[in-house]
Amino acid sequence: MRVALFGGTFDPIHRGHLAIATAAADAFQLDSVLFAPAGRQPLKPLAQTTPFPHRLAMTQLAVAADPRFAASNLDAPHPDHSPNYTVDTLQHLQRQQPHATLFALVGADSFLSLPHWRQPEQLLTLAQWIVVSRPGFALEDLSPIHLTPTQLARVHLLNTVHEDVSATSLRHRLQAGDPCEDLLPPAVSTYIATHHLYTATPH
Ligand code: ATP
Repeated sequence: MRVALFGGTFDPIHRGHLAIATAAADAFQLDSVLFAPAGRQPLKPLAQTTPFPHRLAMTQLAVAADPRFAASNLDAPHPDHSPNYTVDTLQHLQRQQPHATLFALVGADSFLSLPHWRQPEQLLTLAQWIVVSRPGFALEDLSPIHLTPTQLARVHLLNTVHEDVSATSLRHRLQAGDPCEDLLPPAVSTYIATHHLYTATPH
């Protein structure tokens, strides 16, 4: 089994997320991509994030698009509200699926912040990394993150995705009353409208 962990805030999940998961699953023959919304993203302020159950519910609706996709609560909030670190999640996944070949799927912007993540060396040992292009971020130049040749061999670049969409811009448009149906799976659009998300105050 070739399994990819796809972590993120998914606030909300959008077309860019689905595009990178599809491209990665196709290019790397992944059997499954686990979309795991983070209870508390270490590098983002929690107060401005939509509550986890809504983000997980939207993710569950969106992953119906592809049988290789699944929503996961591996990164559910911790009882003490401490941050969810990817290194812990990958270790957990390794224990759950000891025979799987593990991948971690990220956009170029996230990967370039790897030096700020907890235990970067361990992260590159636990999984192979699939790093996907994102408009505005230089995927080819990984020199700022100082990888050894062994680490570099575990990093795969995928340069075929050109989705210029971010959850931040989506939230702004939703707040302004635009339903953003061009950027959201229809079921997610309906969920957002039903639950009045992203309306009055910024999340
Ligand atoms: P925000 O704007 O709130 O920071 P985001 O759109 O970047 O959100 P996240 O949920 O933080 O979305 O992203 C999860 C993962 O998906 C990250 O690894 C991110 O780099 C990647 N990603 C998100 N949008 C794109 C995109 N348009 N192209 C490529 N990768 C993306």
